[in-house]
Amino acid sequence: MDDQNITDIDMKGAPVCGRCFMLVARYAPQVVAPTGTYHRECYEAWYFGHHGKRPRLLQGTNGDRHRYQIRDVAA
Ligand SMILES: [Zn+2]
Repeated sequence: MDDQNITDIDMKGAPVCGRCFMLVARYAPQVVAPTGTYHRECYEAWYFGHHGKRPRLLQGTNGDRHRYQIRDVAA
């Protein structure tokens, strides 16, 4: 069995991208998904690889314009 647990990374508030495992800068374009936070580019690349189309993202408003939420979450 390949039991490769991801180390519990706690970076004091800065989330780690669920795809490339690099820190997501506070004001970097990012996608907030139920499964975690991703760089927007990372999420789009992952989504496109899986679904063959770009994800529909909802851009945040006001001070959260760099944060996107997923519009069509697969139920
Ligand atoms: Zn990333």
